[in-house]
Amino acid sequence: MKYMHNPCAECDPSDTCLNCLFGALTAATSGIPLDQLEIYCAAIRGGRAVVLPCKVGDTVYANPIGLTTSYVVTFICISQERPSHLFFCCIGNPDWEFYDDEIGETTFLTPAEAEAAKRERGGENDG
Ligand SMILES: [Zn+2]
Repeated sequence: MKYMHNPCAECDPSDTCLNCLFGALTAATSGIPLDQLEIYCAAIRGGRAVVLPCKVGDTVYANPIGLTTSYVVTFICISQERPSHLFFCCIGNPDWEFYDDEIGETTFLTPAEAEAAKRERGGENDG
């Protein structure tokens, strides 16, 4: 099995040695009980796994009126209007809502990303 990493002396150039592979698996699954891993792996294989871009209580950033503002995620649900999309509700001033596919478009996980997006838009919402 090929795994991208810094190969050790035992690794073949085109393949990963078992020690490196076992080390990577151990690191990736550290602290996760085996029965939980089995549930997650079955969900991934069955197309039922979703990885949230953020969780309730996290802060996200947007600049709908020019000024970059922080919002705290208070509620996440599967959208009824847009099936297979997640819908996020946030408190702020004013409150903010977004879909998962709007992260990186209208909503950002860091203030720096929100500021960069505002600059890319050329400050169209400034003023
Ligand atoms: Zn190796």
